[in-house]
Amino acid sequence: GAERQRVGRDVTSRVAAEHDLLDARHRAEAASEAKSRFLATVSHEVRTPLNGILGMADLLADTRLDPEQATYVRAVKTSGEVLLSLIDDILDFSKIEAGKIALVQEPFDLRSLVENVVELLAPRAQGKGIEIASFIAPDLPALVMGDRDRLRQVLMNLAGNAVKFTDQGGVGVSIEVEADGHIAFSVADTGPGIPKSRQDAVFREFEQVDDTASRRHGGTGLGLAICRHIVERMGGTITVKSEEGRGATFRFAIALASVGGDSRPALPPPT
Ligand code: ADP
Repeated sequence: GAERQRVGRDVTSRVAAEHDLLDARHRAEAASEAKSRFLATVSHEVRTPLNGILGMADLLADTRLDPEQATYVRAVKTSGEVLLSLIDDILDFSKIEAGKIALVQEPFDLRSLVENVVELLAPRAQGKGIEIASFIAPDLPALVMGDRDRLRQVLMNLAGNAVKFTDQGGVGVSIEVEADGHIAFSVADTGPGIPKSRQDAVFREFEQVDDTASRRHGGTGLGLAICRHIVERMGGTITVKSEEGRGATFRFAIALASVGGDSRPALPPPT
């Protein structure tokens, strides 16, 4: 009798404790979902008028302006663009948190993707007096299947950081085929590097190595967290090798099925 009662009490309190835990977990999940939704809505709502401002600044830049006015319009555009990329980061991050980043599968040209990233960043690098170049392995498959835009976003983020933090020397974006057929991407720079103790932290959201430098350079500390999530969604792992004062190299490898023109077996069409 007494034994059965004790067991009964035990089970009841254990079940109650489990319910409490589940309850707390549900509440936390609901709160996190609400936060993601809120971030997504706000970023979306800010994007529309901001694009209006940028569009108008473009029109204004095409009118006859004296040099001083032209400088002001350029400043409006630059600030607007910075704000837009910040908003995009927040929007992406809220999507990632909500598990809503969907990857598309489409054929694209790896070589032009990498060349395009370098081209887009070349003016910024030139403006700082540093080099930027691409190194493309000759045995690269011409066309592969994957999410070109998300891949470009990752490379732009890595190479953009490299340009941002490097004041001397330059940045190299390379792409090659590994022994197992995976495509390896790397972005190397001759900037300040990242101390060993901070190398894991930079991939976490809102983490910046040096507050003063980051404040000088701007940024949210979201870029690498977003890169990590996207690369992981693509089945890869992103790592950094760096020594303080001796530059940094970010690297990841992913499987990308080649589309024709290659001896590897063809993959079934994407569904
Ligand atoms: P953000 O650039 O917006 O600060 P990121 O997540 O892209 O955020 O980067 C996080 C931090 O990692 C940066 O603030 C910087 O301290 C460090 N970092 C990233 N890339 C480099 C690099 N190429 N060289 C040195 N430090 C870097």
